This record gives sequence, C-alpha cells and structure tokens, in this order.
Amino acid sequence: MRKPERFRHFLDYFTTHFPEPETELVYSNPYELIVAVVLSAQCTDKRVNQVMPALLEQFPTPEHLAAATPEEVFPFIRSVSYPNNKAKHLAGLGRLLVSEFGGEVPSTIEELQRLPGVGRKTANVVVSVIYNQPAMAVDTHVFRVSHRLGLVSRTATTPLAVEKELVRYIPEALIPKAHHWLILHGRYICVARNPKCGICPLKSWCKYYADVVVKAASTPKKGLLKGIDPATLSPESTT
Ligand code: SF4
Repeated sequence: MRKPERFRHFLDYFTTHFPEPETELVYSNPYELIVAVVLSAQCTDKRVNQVMPALLEQFPTPEHLAAATPEEVFPFIRSVSYPNNKAKHLAGLGRLLVSEFGGEVPSTIEELQRLPGVGRKTANVVVSVIYNQPAMAVDTHVFRVSHRLGLVSRTATTPLAVEKELVRYIPEALIPKAHHWLILHGRYICVARNPKCGICPLKSWCKYYADVVVKAASTPKKGLLKGIDPATLSPESTT
C-alpha cells in the first residue's frame, strides 16, 4: 500500500469516528497550558493534572511565577518527573514571559523556543492547541504510531524528520487534530509494549500488523515458540 493511501485511511477513520480530539491536559488559558506542557515532558498527563491546581493557586499568573525561585516552585511539582529541572524552567519561564513578552504567551515557534524548558515539541503543542496552527508536535507516541502505521519512512529516525513527513501528507486544517489522534491511539491502543492489535480498528491497513503480526502468526508453530519465554505459556499451550 502506498503512503498517500495510508494517510487517506488514517484521516478517514479518525475524522469519522473521533472528529474533535482534545488534549488531556486540563488548562483554561495559554499560561496554564504552557506550564502544563513543560511539566508533561516524560511524565503522564494524569500526574500533571494532579499537581496543577495547587501550583496554579500559588502561581496563578506569569507575574507570580516570575517572582518565585525554583526552590519555591519545587514543592508543588515534586511528584512529576525531573522536578528540580522543571522548577528551574518554570521560574525562568515566568521571568521571561514577563520581561520579554508582557506576560503573554507568544504565538510563534521561534519565540516560544526562547523560553526555558520549551523545545520544538512543546512549542508545537502550544501553537497547535492554543492558536490552532498547523504544527505537528512529535512525542514518543506520535513517533511510534506513525512508524507502525507506515505513515513515515524508515529513514525518518528523528522527531523532526517524522514531523516533516507527516505535515507533507496531512491537510493543514487537520494537522492539530492528527497530533491528538496519534497521541491518543498510542496511549490507549498502539501502546509501546504489546500493542493491542487484536482490538485495533486500523489493523487492516497497518504496516506493522501486516509485516510483523500477521507474519508471526503464519510462521510454523516451532518457529513461533522460538523466542517466547516458556514461563509465559500454560501447560496446555505447549502441547
Ligand atoms: S494494528 Fe497494532 S501496530 Fe498497527 S496501529 Fe493498531 S495497535 Fe498499532
């Protein structure tokens, strides 16, 4: 199957079945979103949503964050991953938002990347979610699912390469949604270990399913058992 056809299947399925995807991070303004996205690096959205209410009560605006030291931020985010670094980033982010951007979250990727703790992925999330711009943030889920579905070539080995291939084939208006579709599919169905191919609605055209799952299933039993930990097999299944 050629790549344009895979994209057509992907877009058709999700526009039909999941037309309005949203981020699972809870926020009510651009400041809250950028703080949440910075905290979500290598951390779950669920955990971030747990710490945000107390953090925002203490630092409800960029001005409040700008006046804080990392040591004052740390206790509110100690349960997220890398709290020391993130406390430094948030304090610095507050200061720069106030000193350079009048307390407003900037709307361009270039300006956003000047903020501490904000790389290309975070900047893409912010412009996509807040400003509805056609930016594709490539996190671990987007990277993995794009490859498994065959939406991107094997030579796309960096997040930037995957981003470029995805935006080439997805209509601009759908790019912000496609970002969420890939993340949510990766989070709940096409998980990193043991993807749930059996219940996946995309398997009829998924490259990984055809190349790996179907081939493994059609391998002679002897070959199939090779490489499987016998401890995971019940006595009946080995006979
Ligand atoms: S069929 Fe399997 S590998 Fe392919 S997208 Fe679905 S869960 Fe992922």
